[in-house]
Amino acid sequence: MRQTLVVGNWKMNGSRADNAALLAGLKAGIATIKKTAVAVCPPFVYLSEVATALDGTPIAWGSQNISDQLSGAFTGEIAGSMLKEVGCTYAIVGHSERRSIYKESDADVAKKFAAARKIGLIPILCVGELLEEREQGITEQVIGRQLDAVIALEGVAALSDAVIAYEPVWAIGTGKTASPEQAQDVHAFIRRKIAALDKAVSERVQILYGGSVKGSNAKELFAKPDIDGGLIGGASLIVDDFLNICSAGE
Ligand code: PEP
Repeated sequence: MRQTLVVGNWKMNGSRADNAALLAGLKAGIATIKKTAVAVCPPFVYLSEVATALDGTPIAWGSQNISDQLSGAFTGEIAGSMLKEVGCTYAIVGHSERRSIYKESDADVAKKFAAARKIGLIPILCVGELLEEREQGITEQVIGRQLDAVIALEGVAALSDAVIAYEPVWAIGTGKTASPEQAQDVHAFIRRKIAALDKAVSERVQILYGGSVKGSNAKELFAKPDIDGGLIGGASLIVDDFLNICSAGE
C-alpha cells in the first residue's frame, strides 16, 4: 500500500514574514493529518529557516531544483550535498517551468535526477505534456520519452527511491484541472510502462498529480487507484487550502 504524499511547491514566492505565517499555520494544523506524508519546497534561500521551523515536526522539506554537478565552478548553482546539509528529503527535478522557461532537456533532467539520488535525496521527477501535445494525441509518447531519459541513465530500479509527478502543463497555474479520469489514465500508463520493466518498482513508486489541485477536487483525484497524492503550486501558499488538500488523502 503506497502512502499518500502531498508536496507544496512554493515556486518563487514568499518572504521571511510570509513563510513564518504559513509555517506556523501548517504546524498548528498538521496534527489532524495522520496518514498522509507532507512536504514543502521553498525557494533555496529560505531552506535553512524552513528547516529550523519544521525540525521535529512531521512535515518534510525539499528543493525546487538541484545542480547536476557535485561541486565546483558552477556560479549560481546549488549542489545536492548543500541541500542534504540543510535537511532536505526531496528535490524536484524537471518541473515544466524549468523545462519550458529554462530549456532543461530530458537529458538535463535525467542528470539532475541522478545527482539527487547520488546524495540520498528523493527526486520528484515531473513529467507532463503541453496542451498541443494532448490535442495531437501524443501525451503518452511525450511522457514515455521523459521517463525513458531517466530510465536510460539510472535504470528502472532507481524509480523505487523516487517520486513521479504527472503535471499536464496546460493544468499548471491555469485553474484547469485534468479530470480525475484523465489524470488516472496517464498515471496508469506510467505505472504500466514501469511494470513492463519491473513490476515491484511499479507497485512501489508514488505517482503524484499536479495541476490546479484544490481542496475541492483533491479527494476525487486522490481516490483514483494510481494517484498517490499531489504536487501543489498556488494552493500550497494558503494554509487552509493546503491543509484541506492534505486532509483529502486521509
Ligand atoms: C506546480 O507548480 O507544480 C503546480 C501544480 O502548480 P498549481 O497547483 O498552481 O497548478
